[in-house]
Amino acid sequence: MAFIEIQNINKFYGEAQALFDVSASIEKGEFVTLLGPSGSGKTTLLKILAGFEPVSSGQILMDGRDISRLPPEKRNFGLVFQGYALFPHMTVFNNIAYPLRVRRMGKEEIATRVAAMLDLVQLSKFAHRKPSELSGGQQQRVALARALVFKPDLLLLDEPMSALDKKLRVDLQEELREIHQTLGTTFINVTHDQEEAMHMSDRIAVMNQGRIVQYATAFDLYRHPKTRFVADFIGKSNLIEGEVTKGGVDGEIIFSGHGIRVPMKSDFATAQATLMLRPEDISIDLQPAGQGQVSLAGEVVNSTYSGDRALYSVRVGDGLLISVYGAARTGIHANGAQVFLNFRAEDSLLLP
Ligand code: ADP
Ligand code: MG
Repeated sequence: MAFIEIQNINKFYGEAQALFDVSASIEKGEFVTLLGPSGSGKTTLLKILAGFEPVSSGQILMDGRDISRLPPEKRNFGLVFQGYALFPHMTVFNNIAYPLRVRRMGKEEIATRVAAMLDLVQLSKFAHRKPSELSGGQQQRVALARALVFKPDLLLLDEPMSALDKKLRVDLQEELREIHQTLGTTFINVTHDQEEAMHMSDRIAVMNQGRIVQYATAFDLYRHPKTRFVADFIGKSNLIEGEVTKGGVDGEIIFSGHGIRVPMKSDFATAQATLMLRPEDISIDLQPAGQGQVSLAGEVVNSTYSGDRALYSVRVGDGLLISVYGAARTGIHANGAQVFLNFRAEDSLLLP
């Protein structure tokens, strides 16, 4: 049994159901992220874990013990929530010391622990400032220190970086990962930002409309999404509607749709299907590829140059637009250029 077991949770707000049969297990020391669009149930699940919202049915086990009905203060979890602000009238030191004072810890021990946390979040010089005298990123680091100072069993974070600008967000992500590695505490983070989720997490639970639709590593979500929703939400992909029929050479199946045809070795059942093709798995060339690859003739309709590479939109088949990345060291294909999109069928994926 894992450290945290979330088992068959349903949650109703009045008549409206916010969570549907949600289950997941979290190992001790893991960094797990709940990722999903706004309204998918992430905050609801986090509040249930924290003890702020009761479950309608189902349970949460920690080390095999049912904690579903324990009040928040008995769970010993650290929280960095939106609206769970710092105490404005207290110094940074006193904000971080607060959870230890509540626990009636001795003065010297408090001083030692707070100093260690200030060091960890690199705010030792700011111990005597008030929150209003800190930047947004510094305030978030104080909130993090306050949530970790009492050595919680679990740290819950609800979009802790959403209010920060991009550069600061990336720095803080890096810092949060380091802190996680240093302390070995179990972290559950909520975000709607798939890049943030992929950079930081051991595993990601992708949520949609109150359900966990896939729970896996970033690699598996990206390379082996189970549904069209996950393929679309994680990274950039071409999703091509069509159908799968038999009749290829050597028993291959054939995907066809929008005037393109992709023979592939797969045991995917013949049916309506979506072909997922990542832009970086396609090369844009002036010649068709040799044996063993698929080549689609097309015309460049748009390009966006970003220095390290170019993103092209190429019209193929019956007018279908395919996104493809190309190296941009020696120049960029002009709009109207006649090109071939070459890829290996095994780099694409059929989705039901
Ligand atoms: P997320 O954090 O993924 O954006 P939430 O968990 O906040 O999603 O919300 C999930 C669903 O539950 C939404 O449809 C939202 O409107 C609804 N909801 C959230 N909190 C409440 C509440 N206190 N009362 C009624 N409905 C709520
Ligand atoms: Mg939320």
